[in-house]
Amino acid sequence: MRGVPGQGGRKPNPMSRTRTLTPELARQIQNDPRYGEALSHRVPEPGWRARARCLEHDPELFFSAAAEDPGPAMAICGDCAVRGACLAAALNIGDCDGVWGGTAPAQRRTMRLLWVRTRTDVADVAASA
Ligand code: SF4
Repeated sequence: MRGVPGQGGRKPNPMSRTRTLTPELARQIQNDPRYGEALSHRVPEPGWRARARCLEHDPELFFSAAAEDPGPAMAICGDCAVRGACLAAALNIGDCDGVWGGTAPAQRRTMRLLWVRTRTDVADVAASA
């Protein structure tokens, strides 16, 4: 079987869609209020899931096929008291499906570029203290 041009015969990695974190992209992420809320819940408080607004809705709405519109689920997240904790949990997990904290998977993949870097910076500071 022949490989994909430019990929040395390997199967495409879904994470290869990840972009490079440019200063402009980092600025956009930092200015996103959802990201700011997640940062202030870096370690989500215990029991946050019990306060999730999505518990009142059909889970299919939040885990619909990628081609479907995540807008209605995101609107529900907009009124959720634990949006920051939810997004922080998803960013800590890494690549996960569905709408979390008012974001779609592609948005979280971009946010995670900065999330992981910041976590490393925090760990470096803690290690050098
Ligand atoms: S932010 Fe959205 S997905 Fe997360 S707990 Fe709230 S309603 Fe559910």
